[in-house]
Amino acid sequence: MARAMMLRGSKAPDGYKVPCGYLLAAVNYEGKPIFSPSTTRAIQADRDFPGLAANLGFVACHCGATDGTVDCAHRKASDMIRGAAEYLDVHSGAIADFPEIG
Ligand SMILES: [Zn+2]
Repeated sequence: MARAMMLRGSKAPDGYKVPCGYLLAAVNYEGKPIFSPSTTRAIQADRDFPGLAANLGFVACHCGATDGTVDCAHRKASDMIRGAAEYLDVHSGAIADFPEIG
């Protein structure tokens, strides 16, 4: 698990832009993102959005029976994935611990 900044892909610097997804960039001790091939990771698959957002506090459904990639009794996965993307857009620039990097 590593401390990283999550950025909306279109807001990442040139060379690291992710047209339809998000970028994780490890942060230094000052909390500044480090952009290099070994410290960044692009997340582009829709199915990865709920898990990515969960690191920032997103809850796919209050029932807790789904991680957002499969339907539960209350919500469709497609709705939860869309909700996760909206959550990530709003939280672009947030720093948290992401198991996906480092
Ligand atoms: Zn549910």
